[in-house]
This record gives sequence, C-alpha cells and structure tokens, in this order.
Amino acid sequence: MAVEPVAPGTGTGEVLIDRYGRVARKLRVSLTDRCNFRCVYCMPEHVTFMPSDELLTADEIVRIVGVFARLGVEKVRLTGGEPLLRPEVVDITRRIKAIPGIRTVSLTTNGVRLPQLAAPLKAAGLDGVNVSLDSLDAGRFRLLARRDQLEAVLEGIRAARAAGLDPVKVNCVVMRGVNDEEIPAFLRWAAEEDLVVRFIEFMPLDADNIWERRRVVTLAEILQRAETLGAVEPVAEDPTSPARLFRVRGLGVTFGVIASVSRPFCAACDRVRLTAEGRVRNCLFATTETDLRDLVRRGASDDELAAVVRDAVWSKWAGHLINRPGFVKPERTMHRIGG
Ligand code: SF4
Repeated sequence: MAVEPVAPGTGTGEVLIDRYGRVARKLRVSLTDRCNFRCVYCMPEHVTFMPSDELLTADEIVRIVGVFARLGVEKVRLTGGEPLLRPEVVDITRRIKAIPGIRTVSLTTNGVRLPQLAAPLKAAGLDGVNVSLDSLDAGRFRLLARRDQLEAVLEGIRAARAAGLDPVKVNCVVMRGVNDEEIPAFLRWAAEEDLVVRFIEFMPLDADNIWERRRVVTLAEILQRAETLGAVEPVAEDPTSPARLFRVRGLGVTFGVIASVSRPFCAACDRVRLTAEGRVRNCLFATTETDLRDLVRRGASDDELAAVVRDAVWSKWAGHLINRPGFVKPERTMHRIGG
C-alpha cells in the first residue's frame, strides 16, 4: 500500500503525525545498550558499551515518555540491548505504567533474568513480554547467541507465564542455512506449549556485516516450511502490528511472520523509538536522529521537547529502502536501537 504525503499541520496539536498521515501510538524505549548475549544478527562479539552517564536516567526516561504520552502515545515497549540488565527496570516500568494515557507497557528480552524479575515486573504493571529464542537446539543456540543459555531462556519463558505476564510471545530471527530448518519443530513446540512464535526475517542491522539478501528466509518460504505440517491459513490481525498471523489448521497453532524485507509494512507504521542515550529514531532504519537528552539536561520545558518530538516524527520517510538501489544501512546496530 503506497503512502501519500499529507499537508503540513494535518491533525491536531496533540497527535504525533508524520508527513504521510501515519499517527505514532507506540514508543519503543531502549533502556540500555548492554546485553549478556552476543547474537550474530544484532551485535558484535567484542563490544564497548556506553558509559552509564551517557544513558538517560530513570527520571529522564519517565519524563520523556510523559511527553510522548501527552502527544498521543499509548503503548510503550521496553527494549535494550537487554532491558532486564537495567537495575531500575522494575521501577521504570511502574512509573511509565502510571503515566496518564499509557495503556500498556510490554518488554522484549532474551529471557534469562525473567525467573528473578517476572513477578516483580508483573506487580509493577508490566503487561506482556516477547522473549527472543532463535533455536531449540543447544548447539545452534550457542552458534547464534554466542552463549550457552538455551535452558535459561526456556526457564525464563516458564517464569513469565507463571507470573501471569500476558501475552508471552517468542521471537525467532530466521537465517538461511542456520535455523530455517527448525521452523516445523518450532511450530510443534509452540503447539505443545500453547505459545505464539513470530518468525522474523533477518534484517540489515547486524554489527558484523553478515547480512546478505540471500540469507533472508522470506515470508513465502516460512509459510512453505509451515505447510509441511498442514494447511496454513491467514488469521485476522491488528493492521498496525508488524506481525502477519497464520494458523496451521491441523496443529491448531497460531504463528506470526515479521516480514520487514520481503513484505514491508511501513504504510501502517505507528512506531517511534527512543534510544538509551535519548535520541528519537522515527524509523528502525533511520539514518538520522534527534537528540532529546542534551535538551533535557539544558533545562528544556516539556513544550519545547514536545515541539522537537513532533518535528522528528513529522519528517519520517515513507518507509525503509532495503529493496531500493542506494539503501544505506544505519550506522547504529540493533543492540543500540532495541528492535
Ligand atoms: S521500517 Fe521504519 S517505517 Fe517501516 S515499519 Fe519499520 S519502523 Fe516503520
């Protein structure tokens, strides 16, 4: 679906609208660039993390999210790096959930710290979690995450469910020749566990420059692999959700595919991002950013911050250019964006 520019000034002052008329309702907040994994599609094996004084403080995060809420943002997703490495994550969750206008707070994690944190996060108001799990095979898991933590992640998923977090979804980045043959096994496992797995096309946001188009397993190919288990039918979904939903009739399992490369969903994009050091990214693949941290630290008012945020969102492009000649890979890698 093509997006057409709208006239400047379209939409009331308290709506975050871009020049194509899309309204931002979802904010993804990166709490840290630190992670206890080294996933090959996300970060380098050897990495230097930002000094903590460069990160937004908990107060700054809550204040900035408050400005976004005032501008119509309703849903917040906490990301990283690994957000559960942020010591104040439970308190930040509680304070964001208490902001007027914020309806849901969810989180994307590698799951390892969920056994300790799932219950306090639930009590703090966390709604759901997405747990990253790219293989059910310990050896392949180690190859992808560069950590030997498959059992810990499975334990984390169990802890999230036991704590009553809902929904609990599983995100699996699919790479050709690495874990694509596991798709049927993942679906059988998801059916047994009554979980929703979302298969994610490999995106050019890695740190080691291993991304190549031929390594992308497309939505069509993922469906082909699912069809080895039975007839696959589409399921009605939220049009603003990045995941397209399907059901394997015989198996009775629903799964998602996030097809950023082969079937971009930019026309209905309602997401904006805040990096751990306080920069607004109006697109996952943005090559420019807008700083808020220094404005906050220089004493800017909420109105001034709101004006800067509006401009940052207004200037959002129609969509990523991965499939166009001249695509420029963002300098910032996934672990410093947060997905
Ligand atoms: S690539 Fe950018 S515009 Fe497209 S859906 Fe993702 S964030 Fe939105």
